[in-house]
Amino acid sequence: MKFKCVNEKCEYFGEELSFHSVKFQYIDGKLFAPIFCNLCGKHLVEIPDDTPISEKNISIGKFAGMIPQQRQQVLKKRAKEHATKVEKIDEIKRHKWTEAVEKFKKVP
Ligand SMILES: [Zn+2]
Repeated sequence: MKFKCVNEKCEYFGEELSFHSVKFQYIDGKLFAPIFCNLCGKHLVEIPDDTPISEKNISIGKFAGMIPQQRQQVLKKRAKEHATKVEKIDEIKRHKWTEAVEKFKKVP
């Protein structure tokens, strides 16, 4: 299987890198090859070839093997993490807004 680095700033950019045994993972309905560039550390993108999927070395990822309740917990956790992020951004925005209002008030 061949992969390439898609980081334009990387020396390996666009170069074909061959891997013999790749352990694919099945995460969130997508096949994911956990292979990263040796130089820049970015995720390598697979160059499609004729290798039949049955010959690919696929290992099922953690998420797919979970029971539904566990999955729900993971999803809930993700949603919560997202919510906190949004809250933080709101807080920053609010702070900036108050600051701007205060500055405006000081203008004679
Ligand atoms: Zn790279």
